Amino acid sequence: MVINIEHTSMVCLLKKGAKGAESMMHNGEITTMTAFIEVFLAKVLERFATKQGKFESDISEGLFKTASPHEEINEELLEELEIHEDIPVYNDLPLDALPSGEITTMFVSLIQNELSRTIDVPVLVAKGKIEGPVLGVTSTLHGNEVNGIPVISKLFREIDVESLRGTLVGVPVLNPPGFSRRQRAFLDGRDLNRIFPGKPAGTSSQTYCHMILEKFAKKFDYHLDLHTAGLGRVNSLYVRADMNNPITHQMAVLQQSQIILHNTAPDGSLRIASMALGIPSITVEIGNPLQIHQEFVECALSGVRATLDWLNMLPIYPSEKIEETSSRAKTTTCTRSYWVYAEHGGMLQVMPKINTWVSKGDVVAVVRDVFGNILVKYKAKEDSIVIGKSVNPICCAGERVVHLGVCDDEFGKKK
Ligand SMILES: [Zn+2]
Repeated sequence: MVINIEHTSMVCLLKKGAKGAESMMHNGEITTMTAFIEVFLAKVLERFATKQGKFESDISEGLFKTASPHEEINEELLEELEIHEDIPVYNDLPLDALPSGEITTMFVSLIQNELSRTIDVPVLVAKGKIEGPVLGVTSTLHGNEVNGIPVISKLFREIDVESLRGTLVGVPVLNPPGFSRRQRAFLDGRDLNRIFPGKPAGTSSQTYCHMILEKFAKKFDYHLDLHTAGLGRVNSLYVRADMNNPITHQMAVLQQSQIILHNTAPDGSLRIASMALGIPSITVEIGNPLQIHQEFVECALSGVRATLDWLNMLPIYPSEKIEETSSRAKTTTCTRSYWVYAEHGGMLQVMPKINTWVSKGDVVAVVRDVFGNILVKYKAKEDSIVIGKSVNPICCAGERVVHLGVCDDEFGKKK
């Protein structure tokens, strides 16, 4: 007998097995490799049997076969499709009313569009059986920044809700109109992440931001907001956080990003508005817009796992534990940053790579006219690390060129 099983589900099963065996090894309940493998296999089979309702194995014919596009759709996929057939729409996020020990998929309505139809935001909720904090993970507030979407979907595919303490809320697309149009802004052309906290009775974007706070952020005890660079720019994997706040400091460190940028400026962002409400919130910038950066997605996923572990919501592998000291070896923490803006229009070239250091006086960018003559060279004003930069060769005066981070004494000198 050959059992077809979707690749991601198989990986998930194997992880569950490894997790169970590793935790027993960590507790000293098993001490030999043979015992580890026996427990690992038993956990995988047990989990698979639970999921399928039945399990008959015949090792002599081989157990698992990865489904290929040429094969008929397998039972595992059909099961998942059925689950998502009829997704309820709620006016509010009904955390108290949801069943515990389960993952619930829903839409939550915010405001009405021109056709009197509600703008419905997709939401996943994993509610544990044990009381605990609510961690909210939101993505795609800028409609063309999509790397947070696979972070959230992978997270909910792998999560063991039976073992979860507290509630995990995932909002993969916080700005559906922008997402549908592949654009950063909301329906009225405004950048939602510049106008928080919004207004209960304002423009459509202000009202929408107000509703995001009321219906989502205020339900969270902790919050991660997942973004990417804007169109025409590339970013390192970096976190913006208030590093003077011990909670957001720790949340930032746990992401193990390339760069952490201390930032508390009142910039109209969801993060700052959440912080003002007393909800520890950080922003995680995961690569570039309108493309999936798989390596950064995996890193960001590890960061969310580490956050769940730190909040005692869901343990991770002991080997995945993150100590601040080891993280610091890889993460550069900047106390401030600045953008270099173009003073001349023309053809732009930004030289240094992302997440590399430049010294004071280094040329970081040039602008040429269309005949090839150099109009201006931009130099680093001080020793800095490249957080993000423009990759659009067409440049108008006033546009952003390169985002440079600086490490002052407060958080340590550059490595
Ligand atoms: Zn963004």
